[in-house]
Amino acid sequence: MKYDYLIVGAGIFGCTLAERIANDLKAAVLIIDKRSHIGGNCYSELDKETGIETHKYGTHVFHTSSGKAWEYITKFTEFNSYHHQVFANYRNKLYRMPFNLETINSFYGVKLTPSEAKKFMGKEIGREDIGNPKNLEEKAISLVGRPLYEAFIKHYTIKQWAKNPKDLPSNIIERLPVRYDYRNDYFANTRWQGIPIDGYTAMFEKMLKSPRIRIKLNCDYFKHSFKVNKKVIYTGPIDQYFGYKYGKLEWRTAKLSKKIINLEDYQGTSVINYADPEVKYTRIHEPKHLHPERKQNKNKTVIFYETSTYDKDNPHYPINSESNQEKLKKYKKLAFDKENIIIGGRLGDYAYYDIDKAILNALDTYNNRIKLNT
Ligand code: UDP
Repeated sequence: MKYDYLIVGAGIFGCTLAERIANDLKAAVLIIDKRSHIGGNCYSELDKETGIETHKYGTHVFHTSSGKAWEYITKFTEFNSYHHQVFANYRNKLYRMPFNLETINSFYGVKLTPSEAKKFMGKEIGREDIGNPKNLEEKAISLVGRPLYEAFIKHYTIKQWAKNPKDLPSNIIERLPVRYDYRNDYFANTRWQGIPIDGYTAMFEKMLKSPRIRIKLNCDYFKHSFKVNKKVIYTGPIDQYFGYKYGKLEWRTAKLSKKIINLEDYQGTSVINYADPEVKYTRIHEPKHLHPERKQNKNKTVIFYETSTYDKDNPHYPINSESNQEKLKKYKKLAFDKENIIIGGRLGDYAYYDIDKAILNALDTYNNRIKLNT
């Protein structure tokens, strides 16, 4: 059968476009994914043994300040009241992450007020003469000084990116704010946040519910040929689409290994980061805490150890170094010249998007490149 649109990849970008094309444009869509499930890296499933909703690819917390993204996604799910908080384990002691007044006070063993802490940190930062930070290390030191950088950022970053922080771009660390107060909500300045009340997968199923959408799983785009009337929307890695013509882009992959623990609660919170170099994992996730509204298993919990690796079949995080950006520019030029193909999403754009950003990009793509052209 011939479809109007073929969408390659059933993650948030692909599912948003499929939903819009089917329900607004009223056209027929085939959405394929090489994995055995929809939802991309947001995919969630009930663990069979414990009944706990787990995030197979790591904790995903929806958060946004965009009314447009919120209005769109709440058509398909309600959100629970979960608010994300994160701790970092450094030499067997837990600290607040992102850095706040409590992190500073407990790390230095002091009890500073916000204005005292600002002065104190100003001195710490001033010990090194960093004018315009040129890489992640310099940026981090310019934000928190060397001692906090060495403790919480340096080794975590090496574990996560397998690169010296001097060889990484400074914008990675811009995701991690520094607060001179006691706010410990990870997304403190964000208007809406939470976890889909019935899990992410139920939300994706609702998005793809139209009779105009056909879903084909375990289907590798590169191993089949497809007949499409209008456009192909490809959301896989852009370098793979062009046969690695200009070389491979570098990626990292979060690898999660699951363990069932015979305890009601293992760590008391959903995510703890591990800053020390001797500990091989970067984080431990305990997804039970993501659904405080649910009646949960009283005897067991599930945890996931996260290590950072590279798996060529599962690229997750782009490494935005200069050489990768150079290659990306060339691939984007090739993509721009192709009329019947749209490349997008986190893998297609080689970008570190949050969920709301992927939705907003998909809505813009739909309005400007699909709806306008029909
Ligand atoms: N980071 C760090 N220590 C931490 C948490 C984060 O050094 O305890 C750095 C690290 O380089 C990481 C970046 O900050 O890649 C962004 O962290 P975030 O938690 O936003 O990453 P994500 O949740 O997207 O993996």
